[in-house]
Amino acid sequence: MSEGQQKRTQKCISCGINITGTTAASFKCPECGYQIYRCSKCRKQSNLYQCPDCGFTGP
Ligand SMILES: [Zn+2]
Ligand SMILES: [Zn+2]
Repeated sequence: MSEGQQKRTQKCISCGINITGTTAASFKCPECGYQIYRCSKCRKQSNLYQCPDCGFTGP
C-alpha cells in the first residue's frame, strides 16, 4: 500500500510557528479532544491557547 504524501505540519496554537520534533508540547483539548501543539517558548511563558475546534481557552 502506498500512502502518498503525509503532511505532518504542526503549528503552535499560541504563536503559530511551525513546530518540528521534540521542542513542542502536545496535548488534547479537555473539551473536545482536539490535538493541540504548543512550542516550548509559549509553554514556558504559559501563553493562553484557544482550541480552534471548540473555542476552549486555557493555560
Ligand atoms: Zn508558540
Ligand atoms: Zn476543543
